Amino acid sequence: MNQRSRRRHRRNIRRVRQRNRRLLLMAVLMCFIAWAGITNIKKQKEAEESKAAYAEQQKKEEAEKESEKEESKLVLAEESEKDKWYLKLVNAKNPMTEADVPEVETETLDSEGYQVDARIMDDLEDMFAAAREAGRSPMICSAFRSWDTQVSLYQNKISRVMSEDGLNEEDAAIKAATVVAKPGTSEHQVGLALDIVSSEYTNLDEGQMETEDQKWLIENSWKYGFILRYPLDKSDITGVIFEPWHYRYVGKKAAKEITEQNLTLEEYLGAEPVGDPTGDL
Ligand SMILES: [Zn+2]
Repeated sequence: MNQRSRRRHRRNIRRVRQRNRRLLLMAVLMCFIAWAGITNIKKQKEAEESKAAYAEQQKKEEAEKESEKEESKLVLAEESEKDKWYLKLVNAKNPMTEADVPEVETETLDSEGYQVDARIMDDLEDMFAAAREAGRSPMICSAFRSWDTQVSLYQNKISRVMSEDGLNEEDAAIKAATVVAKPGTSEHQVGLALDIVSSEYTNLDEGQMETEDQKWLIENSWKYGFILRYPLDKSDITGVIFEPWHYRYVGKKAAKEITEQNLTLEEYLGAEPVGDPTGDL
């Protein structure tokens, strides 16, 4: 090989090497670009995924908040429902003082001059109209009582027990309270209670249960917002003996639920049982 051809040979080698380096550099560059691209796509995907997950989470939290709000609204509605005038609880555990007795606008029933809270008048008249239509003839024998009326009922009973049983006033008062409600503990004082008897049998005793009038009332009174307030076998809860003549207005919704679920007003309102049954005349 002469000098010229050796030089050419070396040049060729150099060129080949340079080309190889360029190729290598390009390959590295392409690899880098590809890697960067993949990483970028991956990152973008991850970012999108986390964005979607975040949005999903937000949505879930909002839905939860919304349902909590709905629930608390329901609880509030339920609570304020229980504060309604027609669900007022009056019993020996929840007595009223003379000052506590709500001022009630009463309306007088045509027949015997009995009075009730004017707001229950329409439902009461509907109930009696339906009873008459069904061939029944129930009669009201007690309705709204003023504070003074309840006091005199109670005092009279004490005097009678004192003279009949020879008891001192204190013992007579205890005995009287088993038949007549102490002033402040009777629902009659808020105009929402009525004693209703059969026109064929007017005694205030368990015999009422056998009358067709009473059977009709027990079966139908809830439709007009009334319940039999002191049912059999519930005296330890109501604190009042079985009275198949004492009806109480509680509104149609509560009357339906109380009747369907066989509850007392105390149970419906989640109130403490009264115990020691007494009378509510
Ligand atoms: Zn009564």
